[in-house]
Amino acid sequence: MVERSSFGFETRAVHAGNIPDKATGARALPIYESAAFVFQNSDDAAARFALRKYGEIYSRIVNPTVAALEERVASLEGGLGAVATASGLSAEFITFIALASQGDEIVASSQLYGGTITQLDVTLRRLGIVTRFVDGTDAADFEAAITERTKLVYVEAIANPSGEIADIEALAEAAHRHGVPLVVDSTVATPVLLRPIEHGADIVIHSATKFLSGAGTVLGGVIVDSGTFHWGRDRFPNFYEPVPSYNNVTWAGNFGQYAFLTKVRAEQLRDVGPAISAHSAFLIAQGIETLPLRVERQVANTRRIAEWLASDPRVEAVHWAGLASHPHHALAEKYFPNADSGSVFSFDIRGGREAGRRFIDALNLVSHVANIGDVKTLAIHPASTTHAQLTAEQLREAGIGEGTIRLSIGIETADDIIADIAQALDAGEASQTDEADKTDGEA
Ligand SMILES: *Cc1c(COP(=O)(O)O)cnc(C)c1O
Repeated sequence: MVERSSFGFETRAVHAGNIPDKATGARALPIYESAAFVFQNSDDAAARFALRKYGEIYSRIVNPTVAALEERVASLEGGLGAVATASGLSAEFITFIALASQGDEIVASSQLYGGTITQLDVTLRRLGIVTRFVDGTDAADFEAAITERTKLVYVEAIANPSGEIADIEALAEAAHRHGVPLVVDSTVATPVLLRPIEHGADIVIHSATKFLSGAGTVLGGVIVDSGTFHWGRDRFPNFYEPVPSYNNVTWAGNFGQYAFLTKVRAEQLRDVGPAISAHSAFLIAQGIETLPLRVERQVANTRRIAEWLASDPRVEAVHWAGLASHPHHALAEKYFPNADSGSVFSFDIRGGREAGRRFIDALNLVSHVANIGDVKTLAIHPASTTHAQLTAEQLREAGIGEGTIRLSIGIETADDIIADIAQALDAGEASQTDEADKTDGEA
């Protein structure tokens, strides 16, 4: 099995977790579409159920195709292991509820994916788990929000869509001073550009729907654990309490550095059930094989397009930390090769909501969809779509204006993407002029 970390990143992207199929010799990853797996005998079945023996039982908890995906992502992130889920949001949910219960708290950045903010602020709050949202990226502000009930600190490495960069090293130090793990959503960064565990993060989450899959075909999520966080007895008592449904094992006592991974799989994935299908896992594992090539092209295109937009008078501001003018450029230089902070960014068009709407409607090559990380270039107007559930104040806190357009740059020819954006900016301007003429005529 090719999983040794001495292999290069690109080699592991192609080979980690995948071996030629023992039964048939198939070189591609087999899709094991089976809900359940035959036990060798009664003793074997009992041992697997009691977690004394690792093995397949039922695909809600373990599936061989899914296991290959888990191993591949864990290898690329430099983690101990991973648990894959049906979507990014379910990866977040089972992570949160594995660590926090009623009365507990989460400290999170206010600059998060809209669905994450709502999960924390509505659904988890309703369950009695309270999130304290912190503005900005100053680790001291996050540290000040930590109380004795805090179970995790949550940030996005590159915030979607504001493009803010998390100072992972400073945040990890602040969280660890209080015995709290740092959990990083690294969806937009991808392990090609950044591996949060190398900077002190404890758990990494991906919406595999995005860059890992790369083709916009499936939903999936992955939770990667570094395996190095010490789950303190006082802050995480349920890591030390007997688990009756598994013969009174304790997560920390019986599973050591695998405590969190075993708990989140054997308890949260089992009880909540957001398992990823073998077919989806196959598509994502296959997508990862070309992840390094895709991301390299996407950030090269992004740099050209961001610089071009920044020089266009119809554009008010470009929010990409790869540009020297961005307030987080120093953080981008610290965390990303060549300061290339991913290929999802936003810009503000002059003329606000109406100009933004016209721009979107005039696009031809660029698709208007609620997704990111595709090989195709995508655009959306967050204020009326992905972040429409947020209040005006939350919008402002998430760094989104009325005329903000989010772009996810694909792998097409850069000149073609620029030409489409240019004609859409023209169309927006022209229709504004028409409106002005018409008004003048009527007056
Ligand atoms: C899309 C996204 C999510 C949610 O993932 P789904 O797979 O859509 O459930 C979470 N975080 C970020 C940064 C995202 O872009």
